[in-house]
Amino acid sequence: MNLERCLAIVAAVLAGCASSARAQDLGPHVRKIKEGIYVQSAREVNSTSGVILTQEGVVIIDTGQTPIDSREVMDTVRKLTPSPVRLVINTEVHPDHTTGNFVFSPPALVINAAGAAEAMRRAFDPERPNALAKESPEMRDAVQGYRLVTPHIEYHDKTTVHVGERTFELLQFKNVHSEADTAVWLPNERVLFAASVAIPNSINNLRPFVSIPEMLAAIKTMKSLNPEIVVPGHGSFGTTKIFDDSQRYYELLLERVGVMVREGKSLDQIKRELRMPEYASWSYQERMPTNIEAAYRAVKGN
Ligand SMILES: [Zn+2]
Repeated sequence: MNLERCLAIVAAVLAGCASSARAQDLGPHVRKIKEGIYVQSAREVNSTSGVILTQEGVVIIDTGQTPIDSREVMDTVRKLTPSPVRLVINTEVHPDHTTGNFVFSPPALVINAAGAAEAMRRAFDPERPNALAKESPEMRDAVQGYRLVTPHIEYHDKTTVHVGERTFELLQFKNVHSEADTAVWLPNERVLFAASVAIPNSINNLRPFVSIPEMLAAIKTMKSLNPEIVVPGHGSFGTTKIFDDSQRYYELLLERVGVMVREGKSLDQIKRELRMPEYASWSYQERMPTNIEAAYRAVKGN
């Protein structure tokens, strides 16, 4: 073989390597949102998982709705780069964002805001992997090697992490969704992974410690970053319209509950009578009572 032909073959192989990571080869659940930044989610209501490539390895933001998704996220990484996963950021403590930590760690370290590890240990159900394994043969395979992996690093209020050429600013929000919630801001790329404060077209489950005024404050803080792309903890990525929609919903809810409280209505009465027809198309309508309870707490000032 002459040198020219040999070089041509090498060039063709290199071109093949470069194109093997095209977004369209990553399957229907993975979308490229910016150079080196991808989001995996198998269904609109599922949690989102971010894959961010850097010159010093990969950063994962949340580890999949189920272990099947976690494996898909890892397969995505392997298609994109031979580099190791260095860091996993959990945006909350719930299993649909954290169960898959075991797929990436070790070697990755896991980080979330203060209180995350304790909350995950407290809520841990040792039967969960067995229950998952019974769902399907695919799930049984995906759950192999499962163990509870809680954050190795916890921070208070905010922290900045540098991996390779990228900067990740982690912002802790309290009482907005779970026991430890983290939004992840990439200031250079203007991409915000917004955790589960504002979920597009969906009624969120507001637990007893969740405060709507603190949710609205978190939304305001995130909007003030002026992100170009917002990746919510569940649902399709978009713009700050995701925040505007949620803000309007919660403000209207507070207003309507406020009127009924001033009319002397009890919480039970309000739950029976209150309607939000503008949001009838949003998913998880059965969570509305938890929203009314949270609005009632806010209006009553407790
Ligand atoms: Zn959650």
